[in-house]
Amino acid sequence: MANKYDRCSFCGRGRSEVKMLISGIDGQICETCVDQAREILMEEIGTIKGKSGPVKLKKPSEIKAYLDDYVIGQEEAKKVLSVAVYNHFKRINYNLHHKDSKNEVEIEKSNILLVGETGTGKTLLARTIAKLLDVPFCIADATVLTEAGYVGEDVENVLVRLLQAADYNVEAAEQGIVFIDEIDKIARKSDNPSITRDVSGEGVQQALLKLLEGSVVNVPPKGGRKHPDQKMIQVNTQNILFIAGGAFDGIAAKIANRLNTNVIGYSKKGAEKIDKENLIQYVSPQDVKAFGLIPEIVGRMPLISYLQPLDRDSLIRILKEPKNALSKQFEKLFELDGIQLQFDEDAMGYIVDKAIEFRLGARGLRSIVEAILTDAMFSMPSEGKKGKLVVNRKYAETHLSKDFANRLKAS
Ligand code: ADP
Repeated sequence: MANKYDRCSFCGRGRSEVKMLISGIDGQICETCVDQAREILMEEIGTIKGKSGPVKLKKPSEIKAYLDDYVIGQEEAKKVLSVAVYNHFKRINYNLHHKDSKNEVEIEKSNILLVGETGTGKTLLARTIAKLLDVPFCIADATVLTEAGYVGEDVENVLVRLLQAADYNVEAAEQGIVFIDEIDKIARKSDNPSITRDVSGEGVQQALLKLLEGSVVNVPPKGGRKHPDQKMIQVNTQNILFIAGGAFDGIAAKIANRLNTNVIGYSKKGAEKIDKENLIQYVSPQDVKAFGLIPEIVGRMPLISYLQPLDRDSLIRILKEPKNALSKQFEKLFELDGIQLQFDEDAMGYIVDKAIEFRLGARGLRSIVEAILTDAMFSMPSEGKKGKLVVNRKYAETHLSKDFANRLKAS
């Protein structure tokens, strides 16, 4: 029997029975055991390629719990997203393991559409998920996209950004997440294509469709226009998860329309009481189609969810609760200068009221807080003063000078 140092510490085979023995500090491993260990790893942690190696699959409840740390409210959207992302990566794993076997069910992907006013957390949700999974992530603005041959960006440039986010690791990019912002802005202007064909919007949608449905796309690595001399990188979009978001201004009327028709069509018993104040919760593929997205695009985004407008309470929570809440960020900034910053409740209320008054939503909270703290951030470090700065309502009011308030209002 081979001595301890001349055999695989895992399977016990001797040096003469294996091709190779790799030595560790206190043992050896043979090539067969390395292979087996790799397979166990693949099974356990999946084969999704992230920015820095394989991605560990998270269960929907884990994804949701992580989102809860960063995104306030939006329970429905969080749930839909958590399940969708979980299924998406499970599907990639499944298809990878069964790609050679015939008669296996092929699971198709479900891209996601998020409908909700601007500044309610659509981008934040997508970004937070990408951070959790450590997969490449990029944001594409649908409004700058054009169909090939027109002034603007070719749709392929969306993938350039994803490649950049993946440090040009194509395999990782092919399992990344793309957030397409303002998808509602490329809607066809008329519901009836035969009356006024809005070619530009529809053309972009057609071009986008190519990405969404999963195909191999030639991407110019440096972006810009396709150039005959430029070497193209081929990117397969089959496993890229697309999350599209849009405010869909005026979609409530389409929803109301559909619901009214339905209510008339159904017996009274079947008709549920409709919450007329908050129609967005009933949004369906039909409504998005009526809004002007072509049926093929809608078909490629089978999951639709909505984000609620943020009320005063939610805005206050956004200011103080998320892991990287604004108040916590500024407290940290001051702490680095040895100053303890503290926001009083009434100051937070004031900040939120201003954001509402100027119609800035959650996105405006930062500029208001910046404006209030600029004086202190300017003078305190050079004065070398340590100690405590309490921001109460009076302090906030005085420092958010009228002049600045007017500027905010205008922007
Ligand atoms: P949208 O994509 O819906 O237009 P964003 O996700 O870009 O909006 O939101 C803008 C900013 O507002 C975010 O970066 C975040 O700071 C804040 N915010 C918006 N909604 C939320 C929310 N539900 N929870 C926490 N922060 C939010």
